Amino acid sequence: MSALPQAAQVVVIGGGIVGCSTAYHLSAAGLKDVLLLERAKLTSGSTWHAAGLVGQLRTSANVTHLLKYSVELYDRIERETGQATGWKRNGGLRLACNRERLIEIKRQATTAHSFGLEMHLLSPAEARELWPIMDSSDVVGAAFLPTDGQVNPSDIAQALAKGARMRGVRIVEDTPVIAIETELGRVTGVTTAQGTIRTEIVVNCAGQWARQIGRLAGVNVPLVSIQHQYIVTEPIAGVPKSLPTLRDPDRLIYFKEEVGGLVMGGYEANPIPWAQHGIPEGFEFQLLSENWNHFEPIMEQALARVPALQDAGIKQLINGPESFTPDGNFILGEAPELRGFYVGAGFNAFGIASAGGAGRALAEWVAEGAPPMDLWPVDIRRFGRHHRSEPWVRTRTCEAYAKHYTMAWPHEEYSSGRPLRVSPLYQLLKDQGACFGEKLGWERPNWFAPRGTEPNDEYTYGRQNWFPHVRTEHLACRERAALFDQTSFAKFMLAGKDAEQALQWICANDVAKAPGNLTYTQMLNARGGIECDLTVARVSQHEYYIVTGTGFATHDAAWIRRNIPPGSDAVLTDVTSSYGVLALMGPRARDVLARGTDVDLASGVFPFGTWRELDLAGAPVRALRVTYVGELGWELHIPVEHVLAVYQSLLDAGEEHGLVSAGYRAIESLRLEKGYRAWGSDIGPDHTPLEAGLERMVKLSKPFLGREALLAQRAQPLKKRLACFTVDDPDVVLLGRETIYRDGKPVGWLSSGGWGYTVAKNIGFGYVRNADGVDDAMLTSGNYELEVASERIACALHMEPLYDPRSKRVRS
Ligand SMILES: Cc1cc2nc3c(=O)[nH]c(=O)nc-3n(C[C@H](O)[C@H](O)[C@H](O)COP(=O)(O)OP(=O)(O)OC[C@H]3O[C@@H](n4cnc5c(N)ncnc54)[C@H](O)[C@@H]3O)c2cc1C
Repeated sequence: MSALPQAAQVVVIGGGIVGCSTAYHLSAAGLKDVLLLERAKLTSGSTWHAAGLVGQLRTSANVTHLLKYSVELYDRIERETGQATGWKRNGGLRLACNRERLIEIKRQATTAHSFGLEMHLLSPAEARELWPIMDSSDVVGAAFLPTDGQVNPSDIAQALAKGARMRGVRIVEDTPVIAIETELGRVTGVTTAQGTIRTEIVVNCAGQWARQIGRLAGVNVPLVSIQHQYIVTEPIAGVPKSLPTLRDPDRLIYFKEEVGGLVMGGYEANPIPWAQHGIPEGFEFQLLSENWNHFEPIMEQALARVPALQDAGIKQLINGPESFTPDGNFILGEAPELRGFYVGAGFNAFGIASAGGAGRALAEWVAEGAPPMDLWPVDIRRFGRHHRSEPWVRTRTCEAYAKHYTMAWPHEEYSSGRPLRVSPLYQLLKDQGACFGEKLGWERPNWFAPRGTEPNDEYTYGRQNWFPHVRTEHLACRERAALFDQTSFAKFMLAGKDAEQALQWICANDVAKAPGNLTYTQMLNARGGIECDLTVARVSQHEYYIVTGTGFATHDAAWIRRNIPPGSDAVLTDVTSSYGVLALMGPRARDVLARGTDVDLASGVFPFGTWRELDLAGAPVRALRVTYVGELGWELHIPVEHVLAVYQSLLDAGEEHGLVSAGYRAIESLRLEKGYRAWGSDIGPDHTPLEAGLERMVKLSKPFLGREALLAQRAQPLKKRLACFTVDDPDVVLLGRETIYRDGKPVGWLSSGGWGYTVAKNIGFGYVRNADGVDDAMLTSGNYELEVASERIACALHMEPLYDPRSKRVRS
């Protein structure tokens, strides 16, 4: 016990690269009393046997930013600590061997430009100059990231550990954590064989053991171990030290130089999970048995790319287990289940590349109690209850692994582990030709295939097969009426005598309205950033019904619960599974609904922004007069057992009005035309309502969380503002992340993009940034272009929504 303190400010569990980086950055953030506990020896988990490629580009700007920071850190850590790291910025080359892959890398180059990363497109001949030992006969193009690099994984982790020690972090090896102590939903300590160490903050960086450690604390960390193999060759003639790393996604393989030879690995289509019944005791500095049979298809691909491998001696086939997650992204942040319990795990074979930035972000999250920026794609709150099922997580994770290098198609859906959560209408909609997508385990109709058409997505970077069918649904909604099954919406009840007071504090808009009213509101963090974007219905004096996006169930519930002022009588309950939701939208929606109810639906009596309980097909239905598509309509919240009957009655009533069933792709197109923002893309924790053009939803006259930040921001010119862009050319496809140029200079990128069927244009939203301020005059005076797949395209900027349902006017 003498070696261990009795208390620490923070305890980091795990001495792999992520734990070492987190400890290093905790001390850099000024935390004085940081203890890192390692079960065995530093790096003895996945870190020591990593290949060491360090790539930076991801699909999220902020995650790319983290990886860019890793490169900056790896540039300097050797100087800072004196520990050699093997780091070299030899650049990263990526090949394309077919037309669609070429479009993908062109789009990636544009994304890189949007995120401030240098990335050049190369001809096959130029690529070969950088990689002379490859056969480039099938290569149609390539892209090069000059700042990517490679490193020796153990050495870089040791350098971070040394840097941490130099700043006062205590690192103790051979000390497994065996229990997490908690009290009233908070961490109070960790226990090892030598006793308990009191602490209010634990950071779980236990790699593939992180799930097990989470379980000790009742926290779900959805990851599984999968085998990953690469070979190391003897020296090969023509392999210089400066050889860039190479990714050849069409062949599912990657390469890097190592002592004059090559390291080559790949992502098999049929991954092999490991340790399904728990990781064996004493698994440290160990590898799994070589599996040449499994590696053979990868080897064949590599031989075709690098014929010299044929004669090269193979030093070793490394088979190492690594933790992978169901969506291929790592897991960061404070667990929604337990205060003070943070996670940094599940690095999907890019933990060496991520550790610098992920460790810093996690340390800042701990130090500030809030993430330093919007990290939603990696946020632990993106998971749901079903992610507790290990078999489901394993199935989905194997699919994500197999897709590591396959084309990342626009609108691509996972196919494994489905269906899992379904609306009562699932089979009926399927029989009607619904093509389903999946969100947080829910099956949701994306579009409906007319009779004679297969309800399957056919992916391409051009217009996909559903395009004309979604047009039909979209126009039906604009001209007549459409019915959307939105049962997957997350729904909560907030009840208690302090419910109003609590919600007034958490919401930027005024929710202290009489029962029967609805409020569309944002919930802000202390920086004024938008944490939640949702609708609140006042049910009674002490009850609110809250509706938010399907994917935000865990996140929004955690946000609300954690921001209810202490001591308040206000309890949040997730009632998602109790209600189905049918959104009846379109100019004829009133006529359709009127067939089933005596309640007066006229706007004077049942105005926008209110709700009533209706009897519909024998069901008590909450009808919310809201819209996300820019048409007259009602969201009908129906006890699940009544959903089928209500649906049938609406279909019957709608027949004479041309009512159609419609899906989420139509919703997306409709909302883009009307300028409704989507959380997670157009709005999020990095954007305030003022920047997002949502100031009408903010009541600065009352106190609320984030108000001070908005007041301060209002006193200064805004440095970025959300704007709408259109491109007339129907052959252009906007997907998001396209770079926005104003007068020839990059000023931002699209946060979302798609086609508007009524306005017959491509529509994109994106923030225009300018350190000296962005006002209307600046916005409207520039000459704008969008970079789409590396080409500049003229576009128009709009200050108003493109479509006005009252006048049916389309703005050009
Ligand atoms: C074959 C292979 C090739 C790879 N190639 C690359 C690559 O080229 N580039 C790249 O970026 N990434 C690569 N990776 C991935 C990379 O190795 C990992 O993402 C990274 O090492 C994860 O680091 P970590 O700190 O999260 O986990 P680990 O290194 O596994 O560290 C977790 C630590 O927690 C400790 N621990 C567990 N339980 C306890 C406990 N109860 N108490 C205390 N300590 C505990 C373990 O002993 C371990 O040391 C590769 C992985 C493999 C398998």
